[in-house]
Order: sequence, then C-alpha cells, then structure tokens
Amino acid sequence: MYFVEVILPLSLSKTFTYRVSEAEYNYIKKGMRIAVPFGKTKIYTALAIGLHQDEPTLYEAKEIHQILDEMPIVTEIQITHWQWIASYYMCAIGDVYRGAMPSAFLLETETVISKKHDVFVLETDLSDEEFLVYDALLQQSSLKIQDISSILNKRNVFPIIQKMIDKNILVLDEEIIEEYKPKLVKYIRLSSEYDSNEGLALLLELLKNAKKQKDIVLSFFQLKALDKKPIAVKQLIEKSETSSSILKALVDKNIFEEYHIQEDRVSFDQNIKEKYLQLSVAQQNAFDGIKTSFQEKEVCLLHGVTSSGKTEIYIKLIEDYIKEGKQVLYLLPEIALTTQLVGRLTAYFGNQVAVFHSKYSNNERVEVWKQVLENSPKAKIVIGARSSLFLPFQDLGLVIIDEEHEQTFKQHDPAPRYHARDSAIVLANSHQSKVLLGSATPSLETYFNATNDKFGLVEITERFGNVMMPEIELVDLKDKYFRKKMKGHFSDTLLEQMAEALSLGEQIILFQNRRGYSPVLECLTCGHVPECPQCDVSLTYHKNKNQLRCHYCGYSMAKPTNCHQCSSVDLTTKGFGTEQIEMEIKELFPEKKVGRMDQDTTRGKYGYEKIIDSFKNREIDVLVGTQMLAKGLDFDNVSLVGIMNADNMLYHPDFRAFERSFQMMTQVSGRAGRSQKRGKVIIQTYNPNHNTIQQVTNNDYIGMYKEQLYDRHIFKYPPYYRLVKVTMKHRDFDKLKEGALWLYKVMNQHLDIPVLGPEEPVISRIRNEYIRTILIKIPTNKPLGSTKKTIQKILNSFEAVPQYRPIKVAVNVDFY
Ligand code: ADP
Ligand code: ZN
Ligand code: ZN
Repeated sequence: MYFVEVILPLSLSKTFTYRVSEAEYNYIKKGMRIAVPFGKTKIYTALAIGLHQDEPTLYEAKEIHQILDEMPIVTEIQITHWQWIASYYMCAIGDVYRGAMPSAFLLETETVISKKHDVFVLETDLSDEEFLVYDALLQQSSLKIQDISSILNKRNVFPIIQKMIDKNILVLDEEIIEEYKPKLVKYIRLSSEYDSNEGLALLLELLKNAKKQKDIVLSFFQLKALDKKPIAVKQLIEKSETSSSILKALVDKNIFEEYHIQEDRVSFDQNIKEKYLQLSVAQQNAFDGIKTSFQEKEVCLLHGVTSSGKTEIYIKLIEDYIKEGKQVLYLLPEIALTTQLVGRLTAYFGNQVAVFHSKYSNNERVEVWKQVLENSPKAKIVIGARSSLFLPFQDLGLVIIDEEHEQTFKQHDPAPRYHARDSAIVLANSHQSKVLLGSATPSLETYFNATNDKFGLVEITERFGNVMMPEIELVDLKDKYFRKKMKGHFSDTLLEQMAEALSLGEQIILFQNRRGYSPVLECLTCGHVPECPQCDVSLTYHKNKNQLRCHYCGYSMAKPTNCHQCSSVDLTTKGFGTEQIEMEIKELFPEKKVGRMDQDTTRGKYGYEKIIDSFKNREIDVLVGTQMLAKGLDFDNVSLVGIMNADNMLYHPDFRAFERSFQMMTQVSGRAGRSQKRGKVIIQTYNPNHNTIQQVTNNDYIGMYKEQLYDRHIFKYPPYYRLVKVTMKHRDFDKLKEGALWLYKVMNQHLDIPVLGPEEPVISRIRNEYIRTILIKIPTNKPLGSTKKTIQKILNSFEAVPQYRPIKVAVNVDFY
C-alpha cells in the first residue's frame, strides 16, 4: 500500500496520511498540492510533504481526490522552514501553510469565486466543463466551489477552477483588484533663461502685444513672491483668470515649462545615476565593511544615522548578488513604503524587481510566486512586507531587512505569530545566504547580537552629502504653561519656528503619538507619572476602579489624591490626539493646508499612499501624524519637525517604552532637513532632563542602549530572557478566571523559571470575550526547545480538561 503525508490548511498540528495508487506514488513529489477529502463533505487543498508505505494506526487512510500540480510549487527548503516556524512559534503547521500561500492556491469547498469583470472570453477557447462554469457565472455573480461541483456533477473541480483562474477568467471573491496610481499634479516654472531678476522685464517687453500672456507672466511673478512653493498649473490659471490654451502658448514659446514633482524626482535620480553608483567615502567604507563581515558571518547590522544613504548601499550590494544570478529579498516594515522604493530600485534594476504583498490581488501574488519559483529574471529582487518571506526562493543570495527595529515585522494575529526578521535569518541559513539588517535605531536585541559577535556590525555616523544632523531643541512644557506661553498645545517656540518655515515655503511634520490605551495620570505641576516599584513601567489609570495598575506584574494602588513627588493636587489624566492638533493648526494658520496621517485617515484603500503623495506634491504644508510618520519616508522639503509631547510615549506601560520612544523620536527627527539646509526639531516635554530625551537630543544611541540593556537585565526581559505570552479568552468570566489560574499554577509548578500572571490585560474584554494573560520568561541559558515542549505539554493537558476546552488559548513567542 502507498501513502502520501500531507499538511492541511487548517489549524492542526498533525500531518495526515492519505492513500494513493502506485502510479500516484511515483508521480507525487514533495511540495505538490493534492485535493483531499476531510470530514464528511469537505475538500481541501493539501500539501504533500512525504511519501511512505506505513499505514496509519489510528485511523483508516482515505484516498486522495486528485493531484493538482505537475511540479512542486513549494520547495523542500520552504517545508523545512515552515516546520521550524511552527515549532519555534508554537503553532500548528497548518496555520503556517495557510498563512504562507496566496489563497488562490488553496481552493476549498467553501471558496467563493466570481467572473472577472471586463474580460472578453472566446467561448471556443473554453473546454465543455469550463464553459458550463462560465455560463453559470453569467447567470449568478458568484458561486461556491461546492455549487460548481453539483453543476458539473463531479466531486473535485479544483483543477478546472485553477485553470480558469490562471486564464484570468475567474477571481476569488474577496479580492482587491484596484491598482494604485500616484496622483500627478502639473506644475509650471520659468525656463532657466527667464528665471532671474531681469527675466520679468525681458518678458514684459517680449509680450507687450499679448495682453493675456502678459497677465499670466505677471501673476506667476506675484505667486512666486508670495510663497516659495512650486506653482501648480491650475493655480496660475485661476490667479491670472486666463485659460490653459493661453498658458500652452507660452509653453510652446519656451517661456514656461510644465513638470511633475514625482517625475521630476525620478528623472533627477536617473540623471545622477552615474554619480549615484559613486558611493561617498563613508558609504564605500560601510560597503566594504559589510563585505568583510559577510566573509565570516551570516548576518550584518548596518547602523547608519537617518539619511546616511543606506538605500544606496543596499543597491550596490544587491547589484553584486544579481550579477552572480542570485535572488534577493528586500523586506520593508510597511507596504505603503514600497511605492517609493520600487521607483528607486527599478531605476537601477529595471524589470528585475517584483513586489509581493497582501494588498496585491490573488492573481498577481500567484504570478510573483511562480516567477520566484522559476527563478525568473523578472523577480530577481522581491520587495515586500513580512509575508514575502514565504515565497519559494530557489537560490536566495541576500536578504535585506530595512528598518529592522520596526515592530510590524512581528505578526500578532492570527497564528503564525512569527517575527519576519528572525525567521528570515533562519531562512537565509538554509540557503546559505547573507542577511543585512539596516536601521538608524537598531532594536536592542539586534545591537546586542551585533556587539556580542553573533552579527557583524558596520556603522555610518554622518548623513549623505554633508547634510548636517538636525538641530534638536527641547521645550520645557511645565515652564511654558507656567509662563502662559502656550496656545493650545503649541509653545511659542514651536509656533515661531513654524511661522518661519511656512513663510519660506518649507513643510512641517508634527508628531503626536496617541494610542488607544486608557490615559496615564500625570501631575500638572511637576509632570510626575507614577511608576511600578517592581517593573520598569508606568502605572495606568483605571477610571472605573479608581486605581493605578501595572500591566506587567499586576501591582496596583488606589488612585492618589496628590502627587507623590511634589504633593500637588493638580493631577490630570493626560491625553490629546492628532485630531485636536490638526484643529489647532487650522485656527493658528488658517491659510495653510493641514494633513493628518493616523489610523483614522489611512484606513481606506491606499489612504496612506494618497497622503504621502499629496505631501510630496506639496499640497499639504503641515502634516500631523502618529508613529506612521517614523517609517523611513524621504521628503526633501521638510525643514521642521515638532514632537508635540514626548512624555506619553515615554510612560507607555511597556518594557520597551524607552527604547521605542528613542526610536520614534529619532526616526521622526530624521525626516527633517534631508536636503542641504540643516533641519530643526522641537521636542515639547515636561521632562527635558529625562535620560531618553537627552539621548535623543545628543544622538546618543549607545547611551540609550547601555541604559536599557541594564534595565532589561535587572527586570528579566529580552535579550536576557525570551518571553512567551499565553493569552486566554472566553465569554464566561468565572470560567476563564478559573482556567487561567489552573494553567498558571501548573506552569509555575513544572517550570523552574519566572511565570507571571494570570493578568487581566488593560483591555480586558474584547468583543464580549474576557482576556487573561500569562507571561513566561525563559532565561537564555535554559534550553529553549525542551522548555517549550514542557509548555506545550501543559497546554495539551489544559485542553484535555473538559470544562477548559472552550477557552481559546493563543501562544505568542517573542511577543512585541
Ligand atoms: P537612509 O535610508 O539612510 O535614511 P537614504 O538612502 O534615503 O538614507 O538617502 C538619503 C538621501 O541621500 C536620498 O535622497 C538619496 O537619494 C541621497 N543619496 C544617498 N546616497 C547617495 C549617493 N551615493 N549619490 C547620490 N545621492 C545619494
Ligand atoms: Zn508633582
Ligand atoms: Zn509591575
């Protein structure tokens, strides 16, 4: 008897055994998809991972329905890597498989499909069965695969559907197909010949008989004097009360020229392509350093200040690997950043660049998957967010992880809760390829590895092109409020700087990090925020219980009536958001355009890209936003960055709060003055002497690193301990409480390492489910594998208790 071992795309840890014929046994290869029956009526797309002749003892093996592939579409390296992810992150292999594959590869009985809009199908191109499906979808907008089964009177219709998806006739129902096109605003400028003081006189003479054309020229000079901003075609026509045909006449005479800011940047980049490949001395040294480090080590950290030109170093490095025919994976923390980067990379590598991310349609994702699998020249360089790590690389030479410190590299929900950086390092290992981590503010874990000889370390301390690091000025809010120098949330210092920048036609970024947690209690007189005596975090104010609580150890105290530091009774719950700031600016600078970038304004499709574009196009003068602003954007006209209130970031109840505050403030500051003029940053704070703020001001990463590392050691956090967070959820409060306590007690008994909890998290009920968490701290000198096995065993026995079985348990290894 012959069997195939498969993974099902369901949250199941086991693999399953199915019967195959001898011919099938000889045909199937690991990594092919196979349609199999599961349960009473369902069919799923399973993945073959082994062939054998051992009959399962616990159940009778069913027969497969059909082999779906002619060749493997998943490589053996991937299978091994996915198994590693399942084991390391303590999740089901089925979760990894399901999360890794584009859903068009995973047809199942319940999948809903529809006909693609506006496709023209020649009926003669379709087989009889395909025609029946096509015809049914003309009558009805969408169908379940199960329905098609009955139409065709056939159990397994996956191959037919798959073929029709490949032919671009059918699509899966939930798809986003819309494509993003950057909006291009047309601007107008004088030809260089007239762009001078004498230009106006010259033109007035030249155009003395063309009144309307003269009006345009006059209006242009008026607009130019008013503001140094680029002048849009539309704006000029409005101002001069003329028409586009008159303006066109002037363009034809070579007096004016039209341009797009975006295009302009690209063509500018292309013009300096030769120079570009010319790295600066600092960049060249870093490049050589990376190469040297790669001779000994697999991973290298490039720690380069903001705007040091890390991207150009990546480009140079990629070039070397491409020359050898290798594939390159370029991971970004945020898919909205791909638009910017793709432009930069395609300027060098042309159509060898492919993009892979979840906002792409299924068909596009399938296409990139196939290209990578075939090692096609069209996908030598893959840019993508964390999930591109799951692609079927054949010959991976290099992985670049830009902004490696970003927490978005860690997936929270659903499982697999993997960290893309760490998983990429493991993947690279199986390909014997290299990994370059880049950041101006590396994560503590990474810098720890880099200074402990695990990773190589290369640093750049200067910005590209002699641009100076921005000048950072601290504004003491306590003093400003006391001396009545505040308008709303703006200090006089910040307002003066804003007025100046705006008058010069420069743009401004204002940062306000407001998170959806209950606000902290803060003293209005001295700015003191109560902290937990046992942990390095601030306490959170809980209004309904009138309590201050620590979210890490459960410590709590009654809400104080006066400040523990200065005895003032002026205590307040602190918290204002981006929206309030936006409104204040509108009042303070009514003639200026304000934009806002936060979760509310970027929610829609491409919302993020649209805001970035209009800021780039200079339609927005002041951009207010949350941490989304900190993600490696390159704007060339921002001269001022304001941080509205540094304190609520610092006192966020999280052991990474100081590290993150440093990263965020440094990154946001880094958006200032990226061209010739030195940028300015104003940080408003109640605690100008706080170590973290001082470290930001002095650009002292090492100071921050050492201080935080010390605290992590004392308070038992990474990189000295690995954290495993167990989250339990149930609608019944008492049942959950009891179950969580049971789990905690058993863990505490069987693990001789710190187990904390069970804690009621800040948001202790979501969608009517109560939540409890347990935190396990595994010291790095303990064997990780066997500790996790013990944890898994305890979780299994928990599940075996009938009354606890309905409690949902999620395990998050190395949670962020
Ligand atoms: P980082 O990623 O380190 O913040 P970037 O790679 O975005 O910095 O570079 C900052 C700016 O300097 C960009 O506008 C980039 O085009 C420019 N730049 C960097 N290196 C070079 C180079 N070798 N030649 C020309 N321009 C460069
Ligand atoms: Zn006080
Ligand atoms: Zn505590």
